[in-house]
Amino acid sequence: MRFHVLTLFPEMVHNAAADSILGRAARKGLVEVDAVDIRAYTTNRHNRVDDYIYGGGAGMLMQAQPVYDCCEAVQRQVEVRQGRRARVLYMSPRGRVFDQRMAQALAEEKELILLCGHYEGIDARALEEIQAEEVSIGDFVLTGGELPALVMIDAISRMIPGVLGNEESAGSDSFMTGLLEYPQYSRPALWREQEVPPVLLSGDHAKVEEWRLEQSLSVTKERRPDLYARFVEDHPDIMEARAKRLARAKRLEERRSGERHGRKE
Ligand code: SAM
Repeated sequence: MRFHVLTLFPEMVHNAAADSILGRAARKGLVEVDAVDIRAYTTNRHNRVDDYIYGGGAGMLMQAQPVYDCCEAVQRQVEVRQGRRARVLYMSPRGRVFDQRMAQALAEEKELILLCGHYEGIDARALEEIQAEEVSIGDFVLTGGELPALVMIDAISRMIPGVLGNEESAGSDSFMTGLLEYPQYSRPALWREQEVPPVLLSGDHAKVEEWRLEQSLSVTKERRPDLYARFVEDHPDIMEARAKRLARAKRLEERRSGERHGRKE
């Protein structure tokens, strides 16, 4: 998958994408991050890309011309390669909030253009003309779109087969199942007088899965009631099977406790 990041700070994008899992994915040819310098497209003889805002107000705005020309230049290359234009995502606090579902859907694309704003943002006419979809990474304001673009590239790339060493590790991640992830433990089994939950050492995979589901449900219900409600609505089968399992376990426990009392009398 090819990401074209349109930015005034290409080095920032290059450097961040060169390391770790993204760097490895690039070396494997699974992901390519192409940072395109918007300033290279300005027709201003002083290389300016920003100007004052009509109607007044503090700060400067990125002008329409360099942004539009830069994006069109990239779209022409994309069209040659894939026969159609790429989706353009403008990093913007006003946009739809990025989430795991969006990351999964975007991982299906072959090429994506991520447009980074700076200063007070970008002239609205350029955004209109290039049909940019506005995407936010959360309800806060950053100084530029480069970090949001990198956040999105990272999350999308993890969804591309082969990018993670072990495909399993994405499947159980928070949000992938619709729930937050259960707690996890590694060796040693006893650390600072804290034991790993015994079920995880039992070797009983069905019991481990049940325990993990219970943990995920409980942490999601407590921390993200919105996600929990959606999960319950979307997965009546899982919730029903769970209710039956819990009822069975309760009956078994009651029978055992009855037997224990019987023995005592
Ligand atoms: N004046 C803009 C507003 O109030 O919506 C904020 C501009 S911000 C200082 C500069 C740039 O940072 C934006 O154009 C955008 O590209 C990026 N940015 C800031 N916060 C962001 C967020 N939460 N999500 C995505 N991009 C963001």
